[in-house]
Amino acid sequence: MPYPRSSAAIEVAVEAIANGHPTVCTRSLLTNPTHQGRRVSCLKIGKPSTTGAGRYVVVLTGGVHGREWAPPDALVSLVDRLLTAYQAGTTMPIPAFTDLDSVPPVTYPAAQIPARDVRGIVEELDLYVVPLVNPDGRATSQAREADKDWRKNRSAAPTGSACEGVDLNRNFPFPGDYQVYYNVAAESDVSASKDPCDIDNYVGTALEPEVRNVMELFTPSPVDYFVDVHSWARKILHPWAVDGNQAEPARTGENWHNPVWNRGGTTKGRDGAPGGPYDEYFPNQDPHRLLDAHDLLGKVMRDAILDAAGPEVRAFSRSWYDVEQAADLYPAPGTSMDWAFSRNIDPSLTPPLARPLYTFTIECGSEENGEGGWHPPVELYPKIEREIHLAVMALLAWAAMLPGP
Ligand SMILES: [Zn+2]
Repeated sequence: MPYPRSSAAIEVAVEAIANGHPTVCTRSLLTNPTHQGRRVSCLKIGKPSTTGAGRYVVVLTGGVHGREWAPPDALVSLVDRLLTAYQAGTTMPIPAFTDLDSVPPVTYPAAQIPARDVRGIVEELDLYVVPLVNPDGRATSQAREADKDWRKNRSAAPTGSACEGVDLNRNFPFPGDYQVYYNVAAESDVSASKDPCDIDNYVGTALEPEVRNVMELFTPSPVDYFVDVHSWARKILHPWAVDGNQAEPARTGENWHNPVWNRGGTTKGRDGAPGGPYDEYFPNQDPHRLLDAHDLLGKVMRDAILDAAGPEVRAFSRSWYDVEQAADLYPAPGTSMDWAFSRNIDPSLTPPLARPLYTFTIECGSEENGEGGWHPPVELYPKIEREIHLAVMALLAWAAMLPGP
């Protein structure tokens, strides 16, 4: 079993997949090399349209945080299994898995993704997969035990500091400077730091190359669905991460681009607490009902994992993923998910998006029952892998089933 692959081995695997399925899969290198000179690959899956009909576009990313070992491997194997099944005209197998470390052992039964879903996904969608956004971070995390929990990229230490690295999932340009967005009281509760030596949440001072790589996937073509796979929490998160959600027409002014809510503005500012005096506006009107749709799609992914758990009660409870807004976990600025979602209602975006963009973060795995948190052991990795495959395939099948845009 190859897991956990090195950064170089992920690239080898990605190239092999593209070479093995040239009619439906192409590999491209994203524009910006990393600080250590690595290139980041993107796989595009989709049978070229013969009718010129529009397709929904899905972007999947993983490996934004170096120490999160399972998602890049699982995204590689997802594409491999999907295309292997497509080529054979068969179902896509989700193998059975038995957790032999639990007493007595826990079995998760085999499942099948129907052949019609496999075909629909490959033929009706344009799917972009970047399994490893941050290869420098992964290489650091895997190089020596002392750096196993390395999360950031390897951006050079700023002048006056000895500490390298930026948290890429705090570096996206939304909602701008968090010390302007939040009021002073909220700042200590927010998962972000301007200290380069903060080992987790240093926001950086400029857009990092890995972040620009992800952002470039959203232009010029529209994106309809975006899923960023992280670990761990066994949660399926949707926006907002910055603050609580509210969808009240009378409170549309509670939004990130309204300066009256900024620090120093004419209000008491943004509190970063769901249900507090300020909550970020999340549109939920007809016809798209974006807040309801995010909750529904999150539950579609959750239920796909649960439906495959089988009758054993421990298998069911250990397959449970909460569906919630990200700020319920902790408030955080600068995430890929929030940045992408903000494009739905960003007044500075010209032209505005023609169709809605649905965005999610999957926090796969757990620290319980030997799952290993950021570093699932080889014996337990197949459980995490199947959860990612089941959830993502459910979203892809959903998108493929809809009438095209
Ligand atoms: Zn993460």
